[in-house]
Amino acid sequence: MGQGTSDGFDLAVVGAGIVGLGCALAAARKGKRVVVIDRDAQANGASVRNFGFITVTGQAAGQMWSLARRSADLWADVADRAAIPVHHRGMALAVRRPESVAVLEAFLKTEMGEGCDWLDPGALAAVRPELAGATHLGALRSPHELRVESRLAIPRLAGWLEQEHGVTFRRLTAVVGVEPGQVHTTAGTLHAQAVVVCPGDDLVNLFPERLASYGVTRCKLQMMRLASPGYRLAGGVMSDLGLIRYSGYADLPEAAALKARLLAEQGDHIANGVHLIVVQSADGSLVVGDSHHYAPTPDPFSHQSVDSLILDEFARVFGTRPPAILEQWVGTYAYASDHDVIIDNPAPGVRLVTVTTGAGASVGLALGEDVVSDLI
Ligand SMILES: Cc1cc2nc3c(=O)[nH]c(=O)nc-3n(C[C@H](O)[C@H](O)[C@H](O)COP(=O)(O)OP(=O)(O)OC[C@H]3O[C@@H](n4cnc5c(N)ncnc54)[C@H](O)[C@@H]3O)c2cc1C
Repeated sequence: MGQGTSDGFDLAVVGAGIVGLGCALAAARKGKRVVVIDRDAQANGASVRNFGFITVTGQAAGQMWSLARRSADLWADVADRAAIPVHHRGMALAVRRPESVAVLEAFLKTEMGEGCDWLDPGALAAVRPELAGATHLGALRSPHELRVESRLAIPRLAGWLEQEHGVTFRRLTAVVGVEPGQVHTTAGTLHAQAVVVCPGDDLVNLFPERLASYGVTRCKLQMMRLASPGYRLAGGVMSDLGLIRYSGYADLPEAAALKARLLAEQGDHIANGVHLIVVQSADGSLVVGDSHHYAPTPDPFSHQSVDSLILDEFARVFGTRPPAILEQWVGTYAYASDHDVIIDNPAPGVRLVTVTTGAGASVGLALGEDVVSDLI
């Protein structure tokens, strides 16, 4: 547990989102002296605006699925040590169309179906009574997911890294340049043997030409918190629309017929990138989303028409009117159509790392391990 001085760290991490914290955690566990630099006073980016839904089932086959499996294990361990409550585990993806059943049957036959099972309507009503108001053909049940309250979990993870692992945090400090061994900030220059830049969806300040070479843009999402419905969810809830967004399902040949049907039946939802995730917080309130709109600088506004589409899907899946809206917000993340994760080497001893699909909460901790093991 090394304490760094301002003049010498083993690793400097730019960005205190989940990806930066994942790198800091991995390096600290190796006994390295780590400094994390962030321009904000506390985490304010995608890492605190998401569902806190660490999703394994549905991640793209290969690298993303294995990163997510390892991250879920790391989250479970860290949550315990850092006193981060896990509000529920697992999820049910409940479906209303035979084409969706076909996708899930095919999914369950892949290696990614391990540990998951199929619930017929009777079994679904028994284990997830909150969904009994709607007519479902059944559900995929996965045990792998965890749900934390990101706005609490991310600061708590940072605080634990600082107190238990001696990680130094420099907040309200923007990084204006990085070169081997040196990090130039608005508060002077820091020296470190290695540097990892984890800028989230800031595509213009550090190594913009490298990010542009991967075709990175930004994705905007709308989110809501709804009042407690009066019951406890046994786990996250997803629906048919998720099967054409999550690559683990959408890449299966069976998804083509579902996509055609959803385009015909829920074209407005698809046009706005709407699918449904519902998770629950300690006070019973529900975090519900989301939508997807792509632009280098998305507008910052929450549109009622888009929230209505999300709530419409909620009503179809739960068979009830959604509870009252308590909060609405938008978030953005980095997005590239041809890459899920970018690990770039812009200079010796420097890595540029960003997750370019909406899965950083699910893969960030394991990604940090991989980046650090290769670097220091
Ligand atoms: C609404 C929403 C819902 C989502 N849902 C899910 C989900 O269900 N499951 C899932 O796995 N993922 C989800 N995601 C995606 C996930 O949240 C992101 O992939 C992840 O948080 C990205 O983490 P990050 O550390 O790369 O970025 P951020 O959390 O954006 O952190 C980057 C940090 O870098 C700092 N920074 C950038 N440039 C500089 C600089 N020059 N100097 C100093 N500091 C700098 C910023 O201030 C920021 O704190 C969702 C995202 C959103 C927005």
